[in-house]
Amino acid sequence: MSNTPIVDILMYHSISQGSGPTTIPPNVFAEQMDAIAEAGLPVITLDDLVEARNMGKPLPDRSIILTFDDAFLDFAEEAYPVLQGHGFPAIVYLPSDYVGREELWIGSGAKPRKLMDWPKIKELAAEGIQFGSHAVTHSDLTMVTDDTLGIELNVSKAEIEDELGRPVDHFAPPYGLLNSHVTNLASSIYKTCVGTRLAQAGPVDNLHELPRIEMHYFRDITRWKAHLAGRGGAYLARRKALRWVRERLPWM
Ligand SMILES: [Zn+2]
Repeated sequence: MSNTPIVDILMYHSISQGSGPTTIPPNVFAEQMDAIAEAGLPVITLDDLVEARNMGKPLPDRSIILTFDDAFLDFAEEAYPVLQGHGFPAIVYLPSDYVGREELWIGSGAKPRKLMDWPKIKELAAEGIQFGSHAVTHSDLTMVTDDTLGIELNVSKAEIEDELGRPVDHFAPPYGLLNSHVTNLASSIYKTCVGTRLAQAGPVDNLHELPRIEMHYFRDITRWKAHLAGRGGAYLARRKALRWVRERLPWM
C-alpha cells in the first residue's frame, strides 16, 4: 500500500453505436473493461475512496472507479452485462426528472437517447449497481438561483432515496459544470461530487471536485492499455491542455 494512491475515475455516458464524444460503442467498452482486468487493476467504489480519506482505509496504489452519467437504457443493455462478467462495481448518476423518459438536453440534430425507468433501476440496484444524483432537470447549475440549486440537489437525492430505499451519497453536476455555490452546497449534502476536470485523482483532490477521465479519449485500445500500464501521462497532459480550449462546449 502506498501513501499516495492514484485513482482513475472513468467517465462514461452512453454505451451504444453512434458518433459523438458521449457515446462509446459496446465492443470498445468491452475491450476497455477487459484491459482493466488484464492489467489487474482493482475496481473500487466512491465509498471506498471516502473511507480512505475519512477513516484511513488503505487503498491500492492504483485503482479504478467506473461512473456513468445520465442513466441511459443502454447502461442496462450493454454496459451492465460486461461489468457483471468482470464483477466490477459502478455508479450511475441519474437526472431524477428524466427517469423513464428521453433526454431533452441533447444538442439539435442528434437523436435523443432513452433513459432507464424505475423498475430497471431498482433491478440493477438490487444487483449491486450504485445510483447517484445528476440533479433533477439536467440544467447547468452554475446558471440557476440558489433556491433552484437547493431543489436540484435536495429533491433529486430525496426522490432516488425514496425509490431505492438506500442513501444517495454521490453527486455529478450536469455537464460537469461546478462553481463555488454548487460545490459548497454539494459538500453539505453529498459525500462526493465529481466533475469533468481531466485528471487522475490523487490524495489531495477535494472529494467535492473530483476529476474524471473521459473515456472518449481512450477509444483506441492500444492507447488505453498504455495508460493502464502507466505510460499514458504525456497523452493525458495533451488532452488536458486541449480540454481547456473546448471546456465550455455543451455536449455533455
Ligand atoms: Zn449528463
